Amino acid sequence: MSFPGLAAILTRFAEASERLAAAEALSQRLGVDEVIVFVRDPELGILLPAPGFRQTVTGGPEWRAFVATCATPGIHSADIDYPHRERKSPVRAHVSERGVALFLFGGVPNESVLAEVLVLLPLLGAVFHAEHDALLARGAEEVARATGRHAKELALALDSARSEVERALAEAARLNEELKDIDRRKDDFMAMLGHELRNPMAAISGAIEVMRARPSDLAQIERARAIIERQTEQLARLVDDLLDVARITRGKIVLRREVLDVEQIVRRAIEATHAPAVAKRHELRLEVRARVHADADRTRLEQMVTNLLTNAVKYTDEGGHVVVVVDRRGSEAVVEVTDDGIGIPAPMLPRIFEAFLQVDASIDRGPGGLGVGLTVVSRLAALHGGSVDAKSELGKGSTFTIRLPAVEPIVTKTPASSAPAAPGTGGKKRVLVVDDNIDSAEMMVALAETWGHEAFHASDGRGAVTMAQELRPDVVLLDIGLPGMDGYEVAARLRDDPRTNAARIIAVSGYGQDADRLKSRAAGCDEHLVKPVDIPSLARLLGRA
Ligand code: ADP
Repeated sequence: MSFPGLAAILTRFAEASERLAAAEALSQRLGVDEVIVFVRDPELGILLPAPGFRQTVTGGPEWRAFVATCATPGIHSADIDYPHRERKSPVRAHVSERGVALFLFGGVPNESVLAEVLVLLPLLGAVFHAEHDALLARGAEEVARATGRHAKELALALDSARSEVERALAEAARLNEELKDIDRRKDDFMAMLGHELRNPMAAISGAIEVMRARPSDLAQIERARAIIERQTEQLARLVDDLLDVARITRGKIVLRREVLDVEQIVRRAIEATHAPAVAKRHELRLEVRARVHADADRTRLEQMVTNLLTNAVKYTDEGGHVVVVVDRRGSEAVVEVTDDGIGIPAPMLPRIFEAFLQVDASIDRGPGGLGVGLTVVSRLAALHGGSVDAKSELGKGSTFTIRLPAVEPIVTKTPASSAPAAPGTGGKKRVLVVDDNIDSAEMMVALAETWGHEAFHASDGRGAVTMAQELRPDVVLLDIGLPGMDGYEVAARLRDDPRTNAARIIAVSGYGQDADRLKSRAAGCDEHLVKPVDIPSLARLLGRA
């Protein structure tokens, strides 16, 4: 027997959009609360509501346990909590061989209507299965598309990560090379330091040996003593250089700044390098293009220029030319040291100011140092708010330029103390030591400074006269036996010039006969000391500051 309208209802199940309404109509025809068709998912092996039916069934663990029992074909029933009812209510499931299950919730179904429905159920099941599979396939396709998208994003991310890693590796390799280079330089430096230390040590041990072997040969002992003194100084200079780089590198030096006439400092540096320049028969020329002042530390500025000059003299073959230019360029005080020496290979030029760096020590570049001189220059220039740079052409020569901020000079009246003070009365004096022998000049300068005076050094007569005009010294310690313009002429010129005639001039001479004393007095000297200078006499003449 066939129920009117039942076929129409069941036909509506063919359309997914009609299914919910059809299920509603069917539940009424069957006399139950709700009808839901489940299909078994072939991959998961579990029953799921067919497409178009209500997809969630609330009922908790009891419901899930019941659905689990419906895995096998046949009729399954249970009483479970059904949300719209206060009591437990019956649920029944008719499960087909192909895994299509008709779930009937609440109430007892009309069995004859149910029989009709069950006949058509396999047919509907086929439709539902097909839809379910299509749904899964669409899902899989969507997943595949999303996966593709993700894969692409992932590939891009991996690619940028890879270039990051490559960059990091390149940087690591570069740092590694740098470390290796530093390590190599450290080794070179240690070798160089050993060499530089061993030379003076050898000379000192030799001198000591002479003293031991010939204790009564006074002339030899004097020579040995002089050697020890010179070499000790050399050692002290080395140690000073090293400590200096360390201190300057760590920013541990304090500049004692004052407004300085740059030319004056440059002259001092020239004095300091005069002897080695003469020894190599270089022509050393100063070109003052403008008078310029800088707010700088006297000792440090001199050290910078001396280092550049020492290099120019050192890295230029005999008979070369070294020119020092003092100039004002815009707002900068400029000191330029140019030589026509061996030059620096272009690839080394940008690195020349690095600590312990020396241009290939294996090729013959003459006597090297510790490779710290230029480092000191560049750090000091920076500390003064300035800079240093180098230009060079291999085989042609080099130019090093120091630039410092220029300042206006402080104009002061000539202080009363610049008038010569009475001997031994004290007061800081400005002392000019004129001597072509660097060692003895340095000794005098050092002594004067020890006694609290300010001391300068000129190594020839002409330079002494120019320096005195600038410095207006209180005391001039004047060596008589000077090359070119001798001490007598220097004294006469100083007396003739109103800028320098007030100075107390002390002649220092190898000759002490009365005739010599008269001669120096006639030239304008106030005192006459005989070499080697008697220190207490000098102390008495200069007095202490
Ligand atoms: P060093 O103690 O070796 O002279 P520096 O730091 O003063 O150390 O100089 C570094 C290197 O630069 C020197 O070893 C030398 O090869 C090169 N150099 C410096 N000045 C000159 C110059 N005027 N001419 C040629 N080479 C120079």
